[in-house]
Amino acid sequence: MRCPQGGNFSRGELQRFGNIELNPSAGVLNYGQGLFEGLKAYRKEDGNILLFRPEENASRMRLGAERMCMPSPTVEQFVDAIKATVLANKRWIPPAGKGSLYIRPLLMGSGAVLGLAPAPEYTFLIYVSPVGNYFKEGVAPINLIVEHELHRAAPGGTGGVKTIGNYAAVLKAQSAAKAKGYSDVLYLDCVHKRYLEEVSSCNIFVVKGNVISTPAIKGTILPGITRKSIIDTARSQGFQVEERLVTVDELLDADEVFCTGTAVVVSPVGSITYLGKRVAYADGGVGVVSQKLYSVLTRLQMGLTEDKMGWTVELS
Ligand code: PMP
Repeated sequence: MRCPQGGNFSRGELQRFGNIELNPSAGVLNYGQGLFEGLKAYRKEDGNILLFRPEENASRMRLGAERMCMPSPTVEQFVDAIKATVLANKRWIPPAGKGSLYIRPLLMGSGAVLGLAPAPEYTFLIYVSPVGNYFKEGVAPINLIVEHELHRAAPGGTGGVKTIGNYAAVLKAQSAAKAKGYSDVLYLDCVHKRYLEEVSSCNIFVVKGNVISTPAIKGTILPGITRKSIIDTARSQGFQVEERLVTVDELLDADEVFCTGTAVVVSPVGSITYLGKRVAYADGGVGVVSQKLYSVLTRLQMGLTEDKMGWTVELS
């Protein structure tokens, strides 16, 4: 789908997957005008397909587009395009319980612009790929290292939207962490270097007794759709959930820690390394709270329990 700056997106069309042509001075290539989303389609036992809260991805893309001076598809256009793309790629959706189809909507400044300014034209496209687990550990615990020098987002910056530059900013720390055997990096706030922010591609939760705490949304972390869903799920399971500033000391003193995201779903954290000190959780195994929330959410996403929240969209 294409759209001029200040205009509306026209109706899209299905195309075979392949390379796309871009002008060398396209806004996305030169000034980073790019936003993406990520969601999954699961196949149910009866063969039908479930999407999880696609209108939330549509709304988040619209907020991000506003921050990045880009026009965006309406919620209806976005969701209709997701449905059409998934149905056209039905054969790539793994059988029930064997993975999912990852859906990647991408919005970019495709028009040519030489001086620094928003691009004059935009392209919205969606591609898909079958996926298994995000971390090589699967649902086994992951090991994180707290990053002290490099930051992914500054106050007033673009950390709160899903723009491509945020991911470029994490590559260096993430590659270094992986080379040392860690699964991923946990970032701290860049002012005090004391409060938790998020992991390269997921949100973080800290469990202490019956209280589950997670960093509040304040512009430097992504408002995860899994995060929001887990907050509601945990409350409905009787936990007290707090969205606030969470310190690194609380992290090190937690009973359990887990991450949430579309790709990682709910991933238990087995250990955290902070300034050379390593702390293990739940004896390095999967904590009971992480296991419970993982199970409640994934059963809902896969259509194994009744969707009382109205979060899933069924396609056949
Ligand atoms: N933070 C970042 C930086 C991410 O890239 C993601 C993945 N979209 C998340 C958090 C989790 O968001 P969601 O639950 O919507 O996938």
